[in-house]
Order: sequence, then C-alpha cells, then structure tokens
Amino acid sequence: MTAPQVRSIEEPARKIPVAAEYDVLVVGGGPSGLTAALAASEDGLRVGLVESRSFVGGNMTIGLPVLGFLGQKGNRIIDGLPEAFIQRLRDERDGASEHRPCPLHMGITLVEPEAVKTVALDMLTEAGVDVLFYTFFAGVVMDGDTIRGIITESKSGRSALLARVVIDCTGDADVAYRAGVPCEKGNAQGGMQPPTLMFCLGGVDTDALRMSIANSPPEARTYLTDFIPAEYFGQNHQFIVVGLRELMAKAKAEMNLTIPNERTIIITGLKKGEVWINMTRVAGTDGTDARSLTKGEIEGRGQIDDIVTYLTNYVPGFEQAYFTKTAPFLGIRETRRIKGQYVMTQDDVLSCRHFDDAIAVASYPIDIHRPEDNGCTLIWCGDCYDIPYRSLVPQKVENLLVAGRSISCTHEAMGAIRVMATCMAMGEAAGRAARISARGNRPPSEIDVADLRRQQLERGVYLRNPDGTRAAAGARHPAS
Ligand SMILES: Cc1cc2nc3c(=O)[nH]c(=O)nc-3n(C[C@H](O)[C@H](O)[C@H](O)COP(=O)(O)OP(=O)(O)OC[C@H]3O[C@@H](n4cnc5c(N)ncnc54)[C@H](O)[C@@H]3O)c2cc1C
Repeated sequence: MTAPQVRSIEEPARKIPVAAEYDVLVVGGGPSGLTAALAASEDGLRVGLVESRSFVGGNMTIGLPVLGFLGQKGNRIIDGLPEAFIQRLRDERDGASEHRPCPLHMGITLVEPEAVKTVALDMLTEAGVDVLFYTFFAGVVMDGDTIRGIITESKSGRSALLARVVIDCTGDADVAYRAGVPCEKGNAQGGMQPPTLMFCLGGVDTDALRMSIANSPPEARTYLTDFIPAEYFGQNHQFIVVGLRELMAKAKAEMNLTIPNERTIIITGLKKGEVWINMTRVAGTDGTDARSLTKGEIEGRGQIDDIVTYLTNYVPGFEQAYFTKTAPFLGIRETRRIKGQYVMTQDDVLSCRHFDDAIAVASYPIDIHRPEDNGCTLIWCGDCYDIPYRSLVPQKVENLLVAGRSISCTHEAMGAIRVMATCMAMGEAAGRAARISARGNRPPSEIDVADLRRQQLERGVYLRNPDGTRAAAGARHPAS
C-alpha cells in the first residue's frame, strides 16, 4: 500500500524580531515551570516564563489534588519552594488543605484551582519573572547542538526569545524534541496512559458519601474502595474515593451506560459540596497531536452525561448533585520523555534507589492507567527513591534542562515520578541548576552537582542521607 500523499507548501524564510533576552527562559508554567522560574530568579537573574494559556498552574488547575508531599512511611519528603507555595495558598486564600495521609496515594493535598492561578502568578511577578501568556512555543534557535533561544507564535506574530539556559517544562518535551533531543513515547508498544477531562459537581453531601463507605457492613461492601480501608472514610472529611467497582458495573448494566472506566474516582474539593470527577478516559489520544487532542476533548466531553447519571442515581451523597463545570483543558497523563544522561527505571523506583546526584526525593508508587484496557497498575516500593540530576539533563543538546513529567525515565518510572509535588521539586532543582549554569558560564551538563545539592539543602529542599534520614544543610554528602 502506498502512503497517502501529503500536500505541502514552502514557507518563505523571514526575519523575526528578538522580543527579549534572558539569562534563564522557562517554557511552560505548570507545577515544574512555576518552581523552575522561582528558583532561577532567586538572585536577580533575568528570567522569562512562556505559557500558552492565560494562567499558570498547568494540571494543578484542573481539579486534581497534589500528590507526593508525603512518603510511603507517612513522612513529608518535599519541602523548599513547593512547600512554600502550598503554605502561601493556605495562608492567603484558604487555597490548600493539610497534607493528608491516604493509604492509596500516600498523601493528598487538596488545592483550589483559582487560588493556584492567583498565588502562583503573584509569586512569579514578585520574584521579577517576566511572564508571557498567550504565547506558544513554536521552534528553537540553535547554534549547532546548543540551544540559544526559542521561537514563539502569538497574537503579536512570530518572535524569538533568547536565553543562556532554557528549561523545558511543557510536560511534552516540546522544546527538547524540536531541539533534536532523542525522545520516547509510551510503553514498548507505544501506548500512552489515556487522558481525562476532569469535571466538577456541586451539591454533593460528601459526609453521606464517606459515612456510607465507613458504615458499610463487611459482608456487603458494595462501596469497597481500592486499597483504602472503609474505616479511613469515617475519620477523614477530605478524601479521594477510588473504587465502587460493583456499584458502577450495576449502574452500567441497569441503565445501559457507557463509561470507559472500571473505577469510580471522586475527589473532594475545598468548597463545601464540591467534588471533582476523574473518570472520563479517552484511550489512544496523542497529546502532541492537535487533531488527536481535539478528538480526545470531544470524546471526553461526550462521556460526562453517563457518568453524572451513574453518580446521581447510584452513589450515596449525590442525590442532589449537579454538574457545574469542566476543567479548562483535557488532562494529559503521558506523552514524550527525553533521553537524558541517565534514564530512570522501574527498578530504580522499586529498589528505593539512592543517587549521588539526587536533587529530589519521591515516593509515589508506580501508577499506570493502562493504555491497553480500562484498568490500572499500582506498585509500591515501601519507601522513597531519589530523582537524579542527570535525568534532567538531555542527551545531545547543550544549555537545555527538562523538568516535570517528561524527564528521562521509562514508561514505568514515569508512572511514579509524574505527580505534581515531585514535578515541583524537579522544577526547583532545574531552576537552581540553570542559575548556577548561567552565573558560572558553564552548560548545565558541566555544573558542579555537589554545589547544586548544597544550594538545594540551604534553600530547604528535602534530600536523603544514605541511611534514609533527612540530609541537613552543611553536612557532607555523597556527591561533595
Ligand atoms: C487526569 C490526570 C489526573 C492526574 N492525577 C494527579 C493527581 O491526582 N495528583 C498529582 O499530583 N498528579 C496527578 N496527575 C499528574 C500531574 O498532573 C502531571 O504529571 C503534572 O502536572 C506534570 O507537571 P508538568 O509541570 O510537567 O506539566 P503540566 O502540568 O502539564 O504543565 C505544562 C505547562 O506547559 C504549558 N505548555 C505546554 N506546551 C506548551 C507550549 N508549546 N508553549 C507554551 N506553553 C506550553 C501548558 O499550558 C502547561 O501550563 C494527573 C494527570 C492527569 C492528566
């Protein structure tokens, strides 16, 4: 069979204006981009942040709780800028909960999406970061294998932004990919975790919901929740329900509903009666392809009515519930991962590996919404594992760092490192590394990682000693 002919046109070369020059330029203002820009701007460098949407926060604005602050032993393993951000959300806007232990997710921190947008922007502007909204990364400015800046598209047309160091926090490794960094997508068959269009309901009696689970008799636990004991719900008024499998199967059969998910996933919001639903699922979507994203958005939206019908007719506490809104965009779990100086693996996660160049500590289990069916794979390691700096440093291209879910790791390891507290911790490290690089006039691949780790500790970042205890600033560390 011959491939269909693709029509093409020649775009004439043209001169474009250099709109700004920075020491450090961060592309993407999600959890990793926010902290990357804040860390890079710590001592007065010129830092820019380019974001295609009209707000910062990325997936932290789609109704998800922040996972990853607590480790599998219940201890807090993320501090520094991510913790400062959550505290400010809490103090200024009642915009975040405590870090609540959760038997399935280790720790959940509920956040209010609108507060995230406002507080994150306040912190960036106070830090002097030049934030550019409505601006899409469209290409790279290269000098051989060294990135010198990016090309953007916006209402103003096409422009160039130059920088000494660029940090790719797009989640999709858009910059790294265009710059020529080798990238991978999905599992061995190329399958990627499916995206979800989150949506929100009001009028939910969340106490009725949790007590119906807590009080369900052991022999009739139709409300059984995956890995979370029923008693947990008796003690916690902010929670995530994952499960209710039998109830949903019954609803599907009785009401002929199409819900491409085996599990009910309900996340309490911070406002009374509000819950976010993480249940639409659009298998086969490629988050780096506009046509596929559009199809995903359409299909995801099309799934909502049946899910609402199920919830309001079958799940206790939802009798008076009503639909209020969808998230501002389809939530993408997985796209590209770069190949960096080190590729993190499932074995690194499950063996709780220590790295001499650790820049963050994580503990979230491997959690893969399987591309091939409607199920989920969960594997816990029992404690924490390190994120090595080398996984943020791409192969082939200089002056570039990558932070967030697209760092150098396998599909399985990505299922663990992708949560937002971990992404914020990676962003902080990348921002600080970029600052050291720009100040010292050395590419990020050649900076003194011991110095980076020392600065991380001085700024309150959580790192571990070889015996697993928290490392203290001023102490000797493996990489020093
Ligand atoms: C449905 C779903 C449920 C999840 N559940 C949880 C959960 O409960 N808790 C948890 O902690 N994590 C959860 N995750 C994972 C987590 O949300 C992401 O892995 C994490 O947000 C990744 O952070 P990031 O900074 O790498 O990217 P993102 O959060 O995706 O941010 C990327 C930013 O870059 C911008 N951008 C992208 N491309 C461009 C471009 N070309 N030009 C300009 N700007 C660009 C985007 O607009 C966005 O603001 C979930 C993810 C999904 C999709």
